[in-house]
Amino acid sequence: MDNAHTRLSLAACIRLLHAEGILTYNGHISVRASEDNHFFIHSLLDPRSDVLPENIVLLDLDGRVVEATEGRKPPSEFHIHSEIYRHRPDIHAIAHTHSDAAIAFTLVSDNPLSVMRADAIHWSDGVPVHPDPTRINTSKKGKELCETLGAKSAVLLRSHGAVIVGSGLLNIFMLAIHFEENAQAQFLASKLGELKPLSSIEIEALKNSSSPEFYVHYANKIWSYYVSRGQKKGVIPKTWSNKLL
Ligand SMILES: [Zn+2]
Repeated sequence: MDNAHTRLSLAACIRLLHAEGILTYNGHISVRASEDNHFFIHSLLDPRSDVLPENIVLLDLDGRVVEATEGRKPPSEFHIHSEIYRHRPDIHAIAHTHSDAAIAFTLVSDNPLSVMRADAIHWSDGVPVHPDPTRINTSKKGKELCETLGAKSAVLLRSHGAVIVGSGLLNIFMLAIHFEENAQAQFLASKLGELKPLSSIEIEALKNSSSPEFYVHYANKIWSYYVSRGQKKGVIPKTWSNKLL
């Protein structure tokens, strides 16, 4: 995938997640560039609802701008992304959200975010809560966040949001949707009665029933659905469709 293609698809991904309320005036999505020590992320001030390919900046892992249109700067929390890419070579895309549903699970002591929905088995080894509620705006804070994340697939930030890590742009789009759905499901179920998260036996059965290829097709299906819906609603221009992933 060339840089122009990546910029356009990332811009679409950000607009679509904003339309779903997963990104708001805050939050960001990044994707590792073909050059492993570079990554794409949208700029500091451009609204998530209207991101254009030229609003996407290319950074190195020290946060230096490699490529950007004039006046575009990275978000102050780019350290979330740069430090995770530095510490986790297996990660190729990252979503940072300020989702209300996710934050709620950092504000209670006896209701940890659990695997409620079948689509949430990616987080069966748990979602740790990073204790620092301040913005991750230094490399030191980024490294501390990496320590909390460890080898897991997501981390909550106390009173702040969530960071979800994935293998690529379509994968992180799917994971951002599923993470939000799972947090919402737990929030909703907690109003009905005692929570019954999926058991380790049920999770194992779900894992055994879905191959890695399934998740590639699933991510494509979800992406196609939201792209089609987004175009009908005017979230992304129709002219982008045949140039997207
Ligand atoms: Zn944040």
